[in-house]
Amino acid sequence: MNAAPVISFEFFPPKTVEGMAKLRSARDQLAGFSPKFFSVTFGAGGSTRDRTLETVLDIQQAGYEGAPHLSCISSDKAEIRTLLAQYKQQGIRRLVALRGDIPSGEVSSGDFRYASELVAFIREETGDLFQIEVAAYPEFHPESSSPGADLKHFKQKVDAGANAAITQYFYNADAYFHFLDQCEKLGITIPIVPGIMPIYNFTQLARFSSVCGAEIPRWLRLRLQDYGDDLASLRAFGAEVVEDLCEQLLAGGAPGLHFYTLNQAGTISSILEQLGAGQE
Ligand code: FAD
Repeated sequence: MNAAPVISFEFFPPKTVEGMAKLRSARDQLAGFSPKFFSVTFGAGGSTRDRTLETVLDIQQAGYEGAPHLSCISSDKAEIRTLLAQYKQQGIRRLVALRGDIPSGEVSSGDFRYASELVAFIREETGDLFQIEVAAYPEFHPESSSPGADLKHFKQKVDAGANAAITQYFYNADAYFHFLDQCEKLGITIPIVPGIMPIYNFTQLARFSSVCGAEIPRWLRLRLQDYGDDLASLRAFGAEVVEDLCEQLLAGGAPGLHFYTLNQAGTISSILEQLGAGQE
């Protein structure tokens, strides 16, 4: 693997005290791999705004860097300005800036149509205070009219001031390397860190994938389906597949790995141990 790949982990904000205890336990286990930061998702339309902040502050209080995701769809500038002021005051210095998805049945309203507008607004309001991460799609965003248009829109986010990108998950390393080549041709030089989704459960993975446009390759889908209810075997096989993917990505020059943890640490810890990532 690379000399020092940058590792980061993503959580969702828990709803219950038990959920928070589980997150803390996962966080403390994963902290052994010296992550650069732990990020926390943000429900579209601000539905988790308070819980996202509380979770990030809990991470910071434990001595780690916390990075809130911030989705702008349905928000107006005043709301985002208030949130940025709160983040600034709380010592938060890294954000994952997103458009978000419009909850089904709702109509988009607000001052922002695209993440590039949010990135530009954060820069206008706060200069270089925040390290801004944005989303990237090696298999292309499901709403994009064409791969070329999606790449152009990705470049708009970079030109607006993004410092780095985290990708949607994928199981095909070639899609990532091809995406990097295309970005290089467009003069995009920021680090593009692959997002890694561990495999815990086929039904859940298939549901996520159909919404976000991440492809589960035929061979993988059929193998996973074949495990049926045998979750232990499915997870062991899934861990091997994901470890192999991570190895290929790092060997090919990926600057790091960002894990979608779903607030669990076990499988990811085994994968990172197999990869020889530094447990202290
Ligand atoms: P954008 O970059 O704005 O792109 C959205 C679509 O609009 C694309 O199809 C793009 O091609 C198109 N587009 C962009 N600019 C233009 C333009 N000028 N003209 C025409 N079309 C344009 N969602 C959440 O709600 N909360 C989270 O916490 C969250 N975390 C995420 C973390 C990561 C790492 C990733 C990869 C995704 C995350 N998402 C989250 C999901 C994300 O919000 C959705 O994928 C959403 O549909 C797109 O967000 P974006 O920031 O990529 O949008």
